[in-house]
Amino acid sequence: MDNTTLINEATHERFLQLACDQLGYNTAVYELLLTPSREIRLQIPLTKDDGSIVIFNAYRVQHHNARGPYKGGLRYHATVDIEDVRTLACLMSLKTALLELPLGGAKGGINCNVDSLSASELERLTRRFVEKIHRNIGPTQDIPAPDVGTNEQIMAWIQDQYTKIYGYNPAVVTGKPLVTGGSRGRREATGLGVSMVIQAYAKRYSIDLRNCTVAIQGFGNVGRYAAFYLDAAGAKIIAVSDSQGGIINHDGLDIKSVIHHKDKVGTVVGVDNADITDNASVLALTCDFLIPAALGNAITANNVNAISAKCVVEGANSPVSWTANDILTQRGVQIIPDILASAGGVTVSYFEWVQNLQFVNWPLQQVRDGLREKLDQACEQVFSVADEKKVVFRNAAYQIASERLKEALFAAGI
Ligand code: NAD
Repeated sequence: MDNTTLINEATHERFLQLACDQLGYNTAVYELLLTPSREIRLQIPLTKDDGSIVIFNAYRVQHHNARGPYKGGLRYHATVDIEDVRTLACLMSLKTALLELPLGGAKGGINCNVDSLSASELERLTRRFVEKIHRNIGPTQDIPAPDVGTNEQIMAWIQDQYTKIYGYNPAVVTGKPLVTGGSRGRREATGLGVSMVIQAYAKRYSIDLRNCTVAIQGFGNVGRYAAFYLDAAGAKIIAVSDSQGGIINHDGLDIKSVIHHKDKVGTVVGVDNADITDNASVLALTCDFLIPAALGNAITANNVNAISAKCVVEGANSPVSWTANDILTQRGVQIIPDILASAGGVTVSYFEWVQNLQFVNWPLQQVRDGLREKLDQACEQVFSVADEKKVVFRNAAYQIASERLKEALFAAGI
């Protein structure tokens, strides 16, 4: 299935439509919840190190700010386009609503291949991006954060460029380095959150994690910390993959060695005591938890029949297409949806923003305790609504988030 077909599947629109139908909302309300407030498209010229000029397309979609300032990641990747960013921005509004964070939703990105840019080209591209967008971002307006292809360093450049125009205000971005006002515990927050959500699920449905196997697609910020904390919680991580391939050991991977190898060599492939496999085989493994933690549309009509996990936990945003979701659900495979499973990052981003607004630093334990409390609360709400209404977790999560978003929009006035 090509990318156009996947976009035509309109996965998250259909999830949202289903939730709105079940809540008895009319079409106008559905469209209000779906439609972004503002879409910004930018062209960013960059003089490369060799003197040539390249123009990059960049986007920022600000979905809703009725519950708080727009909030969402910034992605640097060759697949970035307006449809993708629009979808991700809407998911952010639903995620912040589900977690009851006083924030809205946004997403941005630059269509580029990070690996083909030098560090100084990346820095200049990022600073040019801020020069063009600074009027539309800010601590009470729109607060970017890292996503695929971006990291703490890129957030520090955004912060610095913004500071040159408006003076020191670290609350303009989250996911910054600690030394420029970042929060303890932000770096690992999304992956740690994935493990906390799995622990909450296991507790609720009396599953002993020490008897569980896990396969993870993607070993970046989300995948590696999910692996680390699930391993620490006693689960057996039997396979992981990245864009260069996968590794497998049915007795359990030594996750610390895999992280060390990835940092040294740039891929998980080639670590000791693991067989090399491919990405498709990692997705198809028989396991208790499969965590897609790379890009969207990892599981589609093309490969859904190969999926053999008991539960799919969406560490990535929108990794399961509408058709695949339907087929997995009919087969009785549980899916813990992205707006819950990967909400740890934005939750600690919220804590970072709060610390920045007050010019204080919280101890790590305070961040971790706050994250656990927020995620446990959201899990409890989703699992309870799912049980009461006899709907799947995604549907329950979308209903809860849609109700909160709708209430805020109507309270503010249209
Ligand atoms: P990242 O750039 O740090 O890592 C992405 C990983 O995916 C890399 O290991 C890459 O090699 C791998 N990958 C890419 N294509 C692959 C493929 N075809 N097969 C296997 N692996 C592949 O990105 P990240 O921050 O970890 O984000 C991953 C996902 O999680 C994205 O969907 C992102 O939107 C979502 N997410 C991230 C955060 C966050 O705080 N970083 C928060 C919520 C959701």
